Amino acid sequence: MLFSQFFLQFIKNIMQDVFNNIKHRENVDSSELTTIKTSVTLKNVFYPKNEKELIYLFDYFSINNLPFKIIGNGSNILLTERACNVNIISTKLLECKMRVQDSSIIAPCSIKLSRLYRYCQEKGLAGFEKLAGIPGTLGGALFMNAGAFGCNITDHLTKVKIYSKGKVKWVKKEKLDFHYRESPFKDTLILSAKFNLCEIDRCEIEREYRKYLTIRLNHQPKGYSFGSTFKNAENYYAGELIDKCGLKGFSCGGAKISEKHANFIINYNKASVNDVLQLIKIIKDKVFQRYKVQLETEVEIF
Ligand SMILES: Cc1cc2nc3c(=O)[nH]c(=O)nc-3n(C[C@H](O)[C@H](O)[C@H](O)COP(=O)(O)OP(=O)(O)OC[C@H]3O[C@@H](n4cnc5c(N)ncnc54)[C@H](O)[C@@H]3O)c2cc1C
Repeated sequence: MLFSQFFLQFIKNIMQDVFNNIKHRENVDSSELTTIKTSVTLKNVFYPKNEKELIYLFDYFSINNLPFKIIGNGSNILLTERACNVNIISTKLLECKMRVQDSSIIAPCSIKLSRLYRYCQEKGLAGFEKLAGIPGTLGGALFMNAGAFGCNITDHLTKVKIYSKGKVKWVKKEKLDFHYRESPFKDTLILSAKFNLCEIDRCEIEREYRKYLTIRLNHQPKGYSFGSTFKNAENYYAGELIDKCGLKGFSCGGAKISEKHANFIINYNKASVNDVLQLIKIIKDKVFQRYKVQLETEVEIF
């Protein structure tokens, strides 16, 4: 008993040393970390620079029973008051090395999808074109099972490297239960992933990418947002229901429903978190009153 306590303390001391060397900032405005750019003050934000530091943080907070949340590019999350006292781990400064082997690529969780696409295009590897313009990191995309135009981030996925229950392991896609905008990665750190892509002419890849990017730019609004606010379902498009309720352009404080795409909430004038939450509630209520449909948020409210 005594020995185990001593050993635990010893481990904690080592961890404390590593922990103290990880880049850390206090009182960070959440608008720096999310694409909706609403503002709450985050007490502690940590910026691990490599996988080892990321795992240390995960263990440190877990062992010490401290609440934490990992953030990629913050493009699918609304940070609320609750987030202020939670330790935030940002993957922004994490190293981004990629490795190509024949037609496969291994990429880290911190890589932005746009950079992943560009790297693959240069190597003549196709597979990410339809995801053009999704402003997330690979970790966030796998967590959300991001997708567009009938293609998901998992389409060419072969395996994912994760950290869970004290172990780093590679898990094959077949063992992972993905659903529409849902992954099995709760309480799991996504470290990197391997994809098997198609070797195609580089110009053809670029043409496809441009095609989907243009469609996106024509149909989606500019401005600060988190993309689609609500999930679609088999029998409806959330944006269509919101539009039919006459809500396009409706606003709460500095947040409004886009005139271009009703499923987008835009922070057009220093919107507060409450403005956005109020708008989400109004949309849900109106759609329910009219269509008896309970909209489910795609964006994570944390
Ligand atoms: C303009 C715009 C357009 C968009 N279009 C689309 C679209 O077409 N299709 C679509 O699916 N989405 C879209 N999105 C939403 C969003 O970009 C994606 O869901 C994206 O993949 C989220 O990645 P992120 O790095 O920003 O994740 P974040 O928002 O930072 O995090 C999302 C979730 O992932 C978790 N997470 C992040 N990294 C890790 C990690 N390494 N390990 C474990 N958990 C992790 C976070 O804890 C959080 O729960 C859009 C967003 C915007 C702003």
